Amino acid sequence: MHELGLCEGILEAVERRAAGRRVTRVRVRVGARHRVVDSAFDQSFALVSQGTVADGAAVDLVVVPVRVTCLDCGHEAEATDALAACSACGGLDLETKGGDELILEAIHVEEEDVSRHPG
Ligand SMILES: [Zn+2]
Repeated sequence: MHELGLCEGILEAVERRAAGRRVTRVRVRVGARHRVVDSAFDQSFALVSQGTVADGAAVDLVVVPVRVTCLDCGHEAEATDALAACSACGGLDLETKGGDELILEAIHVEEEDVSRHPG
């Protein structure tokens, strides 16, 4: 499950940004090229974050599409899956850009003055 490796990298960034505060939610931008499965990412993050400040945090996944340019006709498209051929002319000479991002976009931390509920 390659999501596990991605989550370890994200968790490091979360811990740096949280600086010891309790994290309740994280938002991650991930390129379509990583072919991340939403539920697998959730499970992996829950696994690697056990016992850390992000234990139990919710994960919002934002998939960043790949930009595809056809070198035959110049048609540009965005795809969340790798295109095999240009959708305009059927050309196979495609240039792809982006889609390999893995970015921790935002974290939500528990406010210090929020009353705590035991359990
Ligand atoms: Zn084309």
